[in-house]
Amino acid sequence: MSDLVFEEGMKSLELYERAKKVIPGGVNSPVRAYDPYPFFVRKGKGSRIYDVDGREYIDYVMGYGALFFGHAPSMLVEKLRKIVEDGVLYGAPTEEEVLLAERIREFYPSIEMVRLANSGLEATMHAVRLARGYTGRRKIIKFEGCFHGSHDSLLVKAGSGALTFGVPSSSGVLEELAKHTLVSRFNDVELTEKIVKENRDDLAAIIVEPVAVNVGLVKPKIDFLKALREFADYSGAVLIFDEIVTGFRLSPGGAQQYYGVKADLTTLGKALGGGLPISAFGGIEEIMKNVAPTGKVYVSGTYSGNPISTKAALTVLDYIKENPAIYAEMKWKVEKICKSIREIASDKSLKTTVNYIESMFQIFFTDGEVLCYDDVKKSDIELFKQYFQGMLKNNVFIPPSQFETCFLSTAHRDEDIELTINAIESSLSQIKR
Ligand SMILES: *Cc1c(COP(=O)(O)O)cnc(C)c1O
Repeated sequence: MSDLVFEEGMKSLELYERAKKVIPGGVNSPVRAYDPYPFFVRKGKGSRIYDVDGREYIDYVMGYGALFFGHAPSMLVEKLRKIVEDGVLYGAPTEEEVLLAERIREFYPSIEMVRLANSGLEATMHAVRLARGYTGRRKIIKFEGCFHGSHDSLLVKAGSGALTFGVPSSSGVLEELAKHTLVSRFNDVELTEKIVKENRDDLAAIIVEPVAVNVGLVKPKIDFLKALREFADYSGAVLIFDEIVTGFRLSPGGAQQYYGVKADLTTLGKALGGGLPISAFGGIEEIMKNVAPTGKVYVSGTYSGNPISTKAALTVLDYIKENPAIYAEMKWKVEKICKSIREIASDKSLKTTVNYIESMFQIFFTDGEVLCYDDVKKSDIELFKQYFQGMLKNNVFIPPSQFETCFLSTAHRDEDIELTINAIESSLSQIKR
């Protein structure tokens, strides 16, 4: 089987060899590289992605969650085609930006004012700067395993042993900055309370992914999210929900509607643009009015609010509003896949844990609950690699890392689910322990 993949993959392999000479690692974002070589994409349509060697895959990477409606959904394609003809950038405001801000506020009652940006990292970077500018404080709390984009205040991991202040998780990030990022454990109320109390007077923000989807998939205990709300109120820190993945995906009002917990600032991205680059950060007016030009926190962007991304986001939100049934449909399909994984794994006596919520799921090769990063690390990464390769051979594309999440889109059909379950059966059967 692997020989066959090698033969069919000649064009991808050749491109990878060339790419590695001109692009670090051959890819423009690290997770895209995997052994022996990644397939190179020719196009995508609906639930399917097609490589340059003529192979077709059912896609569960879905642009890491951005492609909520699958590849090239016709409702978006038609709108965007028209927009391009009217010019793609003005450097001046448009009516659509106002409509989009109003629409976001409709979906998110905690967002009274909102600013658009282009990528998730910009949104969280700006939100952290705003929290610091607004409070006049320095420290932020993040949670181990939560990812908020690649910028210096948040590329921070837990220090060893008794240290509560963070250390850089990337070379090039200054220790002087990282030490102002305190790292707690996801779902750990006690530890977080301790860190909040110790740093109360200098705490600018608590930032969390309400569902941690960048360590595989880890769901919050509802009491944990509620405690974060209380800790923010107690300390005067700004509670930032990074809803770049959960926004519009978990429910029209994201995790805040789903769990009934309100943030002070929210970051949005991915599904918001249906694949087009757009992000947003917003929240209560008292905080948001500190953004320039009304306030002293400087935030800008040449492409922020550009007409193409703005139109895409408006189209996405219109579609969600008019089609509320999409959530139940995706949820049902994910449940079907996850129940099958559990049955198949149990038949084969494979120790696995499956986490899922709404349109997201992930399998871990460990038994016992997976509630935080430490639990994820118990998963057998070697078995996951075999599972990934097995899925690829069976024409199903899932994220190549245990520390990512599978995403369903509204374009996944019943037939896709059946084929996926067959692929899982075949892949799990061939795992060698
Ligand atoms: C993807 C992601 C980001 C970063 O978004 P980019 O657009 O890749 O910069 C931030 N936060 C979360 C929760 C994400 O999943």
